[in-house]
Amino acid sequence: MSEFIILGAGMIGVCTALELQARGHEVALVDRREPGRETSYGNAGIIQTEAAEPYPLPRDVATLFDYALGRKNDVTYDLPGLLQMAPALWTYFRSSAPERHRRISHFYAQLTARATDDHADWIEAAGAQSLIRKDGYYQAYRDQAALDEGVRKAARFMDEYGVPSDILDGAELAAKEPALKKQVAGAVHWHDSWTCSDPGALTAAYAKLFQARGGRLLTGDAVTLLPIQNAGWRVLTDEGPVEAPQCVVALGPWAPRLLSLLGYRIPMVFKRGYHGHFDAPSTLSRPLMDVAHGVLLCPMQQGLRMATGAALVATSAPPRPRQLSRGVDAVADLIELGPRVEEPQWYGMRPCMPDMLPLVGPAPRHKGLWFNFGHGHQGFTLGPTSAKLLVKAIDGEQSELLNALDPSRRSVVID
Ligand SMILES: Cc1cc2nc3c(=O)[nH]c(=O)nc-3n(C[C@H](O)[C@H](O)[C@H](O)COP(=O)(O)OP(=O)(O)OC[C@H]3O[C@@H](n4cnc5c(N)ncnc54)[C@H](O)[C@@H]3O)c2cc1C
Repeated sequence: MSEFIILGAGMIGVCTALELQARGHEVALVDRREPGRETSYGNAGIIQTEAAEPYPLPRDVATLFDYALGRKNDVTYDLPGLLQMAPALWTYFRSSAPERHRRISHFYAQLTARATDDHADWIEAAGAQSLIRKDGYYQAYRDQAALDEGVRKAARFMDEYGVPSDILDGAELAAKEPALKKQVAGAVHWHDSWTCSDPGALTAAYAKLFQARGGRLLTGDAVTLLPIQNAGWRVLTDEGPVEAPQCVVALGPWAPRLLSLLGYRIPMVFKRGYHGHFDAPSTLSRPLMDVAHGVLLCPMQQGLRMATGAALVATSAPPRPRQLSRGVDAVADLIELGPRVEEPQWYGMRPCMPDMLPLVGPAPRHKGLWFNFGHGHQGFTLGPTSAKLLVKAIDGEQSELLNALDPSRRSVVID
């Protein structure tokens, strides 16, 4: 019999399974798909030690007006999406107030700072070094005023969080990236972040390591989860029912739906993102964000991946990759993308908590039930770090950081 059932084999669930296994626990990892085929597949693959602050919502009227009129491409919305997420968005907006955002970032920065160190052991043990580059990514600015702002932010991140970067002018960036067709004003090079050329493959490699070490990977539907009288949890899988005294919910954007069946109301902001791959005749050495147009260009095994910003649309909305097509038009002067690789249109939802911190710790009302979800824009980054913290919480450790992540202390969990 297993000691733990982990529901969800994205980056968060797979790392949770590995970490518990490393502490000597018997673990069954359950997903309805292969590991790493959802949000952890299609992201930009950056292990973001530089992301010390979660993205706030803009609060100045001019910027909000630009978004309302659809003038910007990094964040878009539709009315059903705003209505579906209204309470969560309102809390997210309030969490974006400078003082609150500063308090949240105090904890967030402690998570992202450890991310590459925490990934390093698993990358090596999984033999996945060939998927990883350790030389960062660029945020490229097209005009001088925007670059100046980017440079000020980079200096502040160094002062406040110790996050280093280099500033490149347009000529320096062009010399490093010959695929660029024109010079922009410059770029911030966040050189300590790592990048991955196939995020789904890294998640799958971690899952393979878990299996090679004796872990059970099972196909099953999390919504069959039921508490067993005084004995833990049961979930149905293709190999029959699996039972364990403890269960971790690591279902990313699907966690609120499952937990609603157990009586929890968990508001979440679902920030949809799209990607497309291009067979570029000349590619980039590392990811580059075109800040003005809110898209990231990432050299991946499948081609040059363009990943989009956030679309605040209803979870059931059909794919409408307008940010992607606008991004394609916008970067045409910067790089030759080449033909689009034919594949079904991918999209995923960043699972963002309204107070911007992931939920990592005990479920407020159920013994033996643990949460590990809500990692928003940085779940690929935070898998190993979040798993280590959850295991500390399970072991009964206390710290200021664990308290900040603890679901039973968070007003965003309404039971
Ligand atoms: C366009 C885009 C770019 C991004 N770029 C980055 C980046 O560069 N760096 C970064 O750190 N993060 C990035 N992110 C965010 C990151 O991808 C997510 O935070 C992360 O993948 C979430 O991982 P997860 O394991 O919580 O969720 P998921 O990877 O979605 O895993 C959840 C799992 O639950 C399973 N599941 C769902 N329902 C059920 C059910 N009923 N039964 C069984 N299984 C179920 C799914 O099949 C899935 O495998 C990006 C996101 C997007 C959309």
